[in-house]
Amino acid sequence: MDLDQLLIDRFGFPAFRPGQREAITSLLAGEDLLCIQPTGHGKSLIYQVSSVVLGGVTLVISPLLALMRDQLDHLERRFGIPAASINSDQDDAENERARALAASGHIQILFVAPEQLDNVERLAFLTSLDLRLVVVDEAHCISTWGHDFRPAYREIARLVAAVRESDAVRVLGLTATADSRTEEDIRGQLAPIRVMRRSMDRPNLALATHRVHGMGEKLAWLHDRLGRWEGVSLLYCATRDNTEMVAEYLAERGHRVAAYHAGLPPDRKRTLQAAFLDGQYAAIAATNALGMGIDKSDLRAVVHVDVPGSITACYQEVGRAGRDGLPARGELLWDPDDRRIQEYFIHSARPSRGDFEKLQGLIDQEPRRLTDLKRLSGLHPTRVTVVVAELVEQGFVVKEARKRTQYYVGTGRPGAPELTRYERQEQVRREGLARMMAYADGQTGCLMQTLRQCLGDDHADTCGRCGGCLGVPPEPLDGAQASAWLAERPVALAGYRRDMAAGRALFDSSRRSPAFRAFMGGRTQGRSDPAVLERLVAVARTLGDFVAVVPLPTGSWAAGPQVADHLARALGIPVASVLAWGAQPEARQGTLLNNDQRRANVAGRMVAEHPPDGDLLLLDDYAGSSATLREAARALKAVGHQGARIPLTVARVRWRLGRPGIV
Ligand SMILES: [Zn+2]
Repeated sequence: MDLDQLLIDRFGFPAFRPGQREAITSLLAGEDLLCIQPTGHGKSLIYQVSSVVLGGVTLVISPLLALMRDQLDHLERRFGIPAASINSDQDDAENERARALAASGHIQILFVAPEQLDNVERLAFLTSLDLRLVVVDEAHCISTWGHDFRPAYREIARLVAAVRESDAVRVLGLTATADSRTEEDIRGQLAPIRVMRRSMDRPNLALATHRVHGMGEKLAWLHDRLGRWEGVSLLYCATRDNTEMVAEYLAERGHRVAAYHAGLPPDRKRTLQAAFLDGQYAAIAATNALGMGIDKSDLRAVVHVDVPGSITACYQEVGRAGRDGLPARGELLWDPDDRRIQEYFIHSARPSRGDFEKLQGLIDQEPRRLTDLKRLSGLHPTRVTVVVAELVEQGFVVKEARKRTQYYVGTGRPGAPELTRYERQEQVRREGLARMMAYADGQTGCLMQTLRQCLGDDHADTCGRCGGCLGVPPEPLDGAQASAWLAERPVALAGYRRDMAAGRALFDSSRRSPAFRAFMGGRTQGRSDPAVLERLVAVARTLGDFVAVVPLPTGSWAAGPQVADHLARALGIPVASVLAWGAQPEARQGTLLNNDQRRANVAGRMVAEHPPDGDLLLLDDYAGSSATLREAARALKAVGHQGARIPLTVARVRWRLGRPGIV
């Protein structure tokens, strides 16, 4: 087969980029391969070309799938490669169609999300296909040392072992970020595999870091830069809330910016993705979970609004800028306080021996679903996922599908799981964070050189174009106006299915404003601050036209009835006190340990009389998990209420997960 001719005829490219031909030739010769090379080097072409030559089905396991619709079309129309995807952002019918096409041999490349492998039935389906090539995209995710390790990726090694029984199957791992430890771990899991590593330099990328104090200064900086920069930017934030806040602030100042995170409905994600690719936004504020799926080669800047958890994460994310090879920026805003949120992430991911014993005990009693385990254990949800995956991996638990629901079943294996890897892992993550902090602080000199050295480029020179090399002096920033905006900004309360529309809360507990403290302090004493009442009325007016204020039944908010009356009078509508507890919840929500417990604590316990039809304003003092508001909306819907149910609370708090109390 003449690969050059194939590249021209079928793919329309005049020549291979460095490394591509070598990788393809080695795959075709039957070798398994791990390619470590920076983004923008055309990694996908390696499996696209190979798939045409090999025939059969190429299976691509990728965390980016939710957003791959466009690429699927592209493969089909431009290269004549029939492709489909199976992932949770598609509906059942779409996934079913993709399965049928793959089973009947009408698909050449099948993309699946790693979570698909976590289900025994779906895994069996995939191994039954006529596979010739299995591609592990973002292969660093299979390493416990990787910065965004996902338990579902564990299943990949199992799949690879199963398909290797056939000589016809090749394995290709792809990643843009694997330091030597991660490389070794991937090699161990996918062994035997040959490693091809290329230089991690990105000569078109200019890096810089900026010291700021507080979110107000970050917002001010972003507003200023977006006003000056050409082209499209990606703004990475540490939390979903921050993406919304950043997008809202900038949009109010006339920039075309949207928030983008995993919590958005699939339809909204699709529309946003399309509009973003189309250049309708100047910037998108995203969490790293979704940001990695943004496939736009002409991004001119990537900004870390919050400090990333490690150098590898930083390199990976910043590498999304300038994949077209033209000049691009990678900027990092550094507030030393950001360290805390990353430490919290590290802490929540680290399970203890007690967590293992608790979950294994529950599973040994009887087969359990994941959601039961979260509710019964009260552990942080991430930890439950990690521990269960580990118990499966070590043979203490197996997964079984019963009536389309997945259960975890004890195997009765004696002994205790081996946990030293978690101790090592936490230590590695803390070291990673420390290096990240040193980079952010500018202590390390050349920024590109620091990134490259951390990623295993032993002979990296200084770049001559970054903030470290050029010594750019800090610019004064005035964050006062943005800080005032933050203090005044009502926060969003997410809606829930068709039961409850999205609403608002006046204060966000995480900002600990004096007004929030005063409210929480006086909540049980029947005081209500006139300024708070005034703001509640103003925010209620922005939420719509209501037919009644519906207060939630409360035991502890002494001023609740008075606030409901005031609000109703100001809006010229009645108070409809139609909600009551049919059965009192057994515990106060604040004393429970996670949101699964909070939902179970209130579910099915509220009763309602029929309210007036039309849009209702649900009023409560504060929302944490929103489980009580959802329960109220459910009760109102159950008695046949017609219209929207929109929540308004004075405060929104963040419950700790895995421990009682407010974050
Ligand atoms: Zn430099």
